Amino acid sequence: MFFKRSKEKEDAPEKKEKRAGLLARMTQALGATKENLVGKIEAVLGTFSSMDEDALDELEGTLLGADLGVAVTDRIMTAVRAQFKKGVLKTPEDAKAEIRDQLGAILASHAGAAAQAPSEAGAAPPKPQVWMVVGVNGTGKTTTVGKLTARLAAEGRKTLVCAADTFRPAAIEQLAVWAERSGTDLVKSKIGADPSAVLHDALAAATARAADLVLVDTAGRLHTKSNLMKELDKMRRVAGKVVAGAPHETLLVVDATTGQNGLAQAREFMKATGITGLIVTKLDGTAKGGVLFGIAEELDIPVRYIGIGEGIDDLIEFSPEDFINSLFK
Ligand code: GDP
Repeated sequence: MFFKRSKEKEDAPEKKEKRAGLLARMTQALGATKENLVGKIEAVLGTFSSMDEDALDELEGTLLGADLGVAVTDRIMTAVRAQFKKGVLKTPEDAKAEIRDQLGAILASHAGAAAQAPSEAGAAPPKPQVWMVVGVNGTGKTTTVGKLTARLAAEGRKTLVCAADTFRPAAIEQLAVWAERSGTDLVKSKIGADPSAVLHDALAAATARAADLVLVDTAGRLHTKSNLMKELDKMRRVAGKVVAGAPHETLLVVDATTGQNGLAQAREFMKATGITGLIVTKLDGTAKGGVLFGIAEELDIPVRYIGIGEGIDDLIEFSPEDFINSLFK
């Protein structure tokens, strides 16, 4: 016990330093979104000395132009107007504080409980957990699966990667490289193979090897959109037959640089595949990160991870609080 405590003490500064580094990188990556969202809010509010109907209208126009989407803008403006009517929201600073609270509340209300990794303490979830990663081509699915693979390996979780995007040769090659680097097992097949058959083999292998988790990369485009949705649906059914309750997570990858298009894509996938969580990629170098709020609010799904670069460490477990702090700091 004594030794354990002193080890924790030793680890603490290192952990703190790592966390501070992550936060700094996230804040830097969110710079353009901060400018586009908080910068514009501050600019418009800065032209008023106290809140009035004109200020409220201008604020509404600014929010609509900042990639938050209509649902989020409505939610914020309803709250701001209610506070204004009650006489408790008087100054531009009050308005900014209310916006910050509302954005935080949106992320918190959809946060949900992250899927428990099997090696974590508490009631052990069934093994293996199956996480399907879905989304349109080019959003960063394969890269994200690679980053997750490295992350889980570093945490000591026994993971198996299933390369079920059998339509894109580069995806299989890319995953093979990431998996090898982190010493993770990979199940793949030939180009054009039936993705459900590859998934079936991967889940059988994972069960035989007592893996904790299976990460499944999927295709982002088939011959038609309805083919893709049918294929994803079939994969879900196959997964459920081999492993009880699978897929335990279906994570949709959305490219933040596509702004409102990302929201439209999310709606399509939501209808067809029962998304349980979001991964928002490419938040570095885009001003459109506000779309993250729009998707979480409209589809009522939690953001699980965010991508802030192409490197292996550029995937951050999402924290609503850190995200809001980075934007409003
Ligand atoms: P997929 O078709 O959805 O599997 O997409 P890929 O994983 O092949 O990624 C498409 C491109 O996006 C690649 O060039 C990746 O390096 C890049 N990418 C993925 N995630 C991020 C990110 O968070 N930030 C940046 N800047 N690029 C990313």
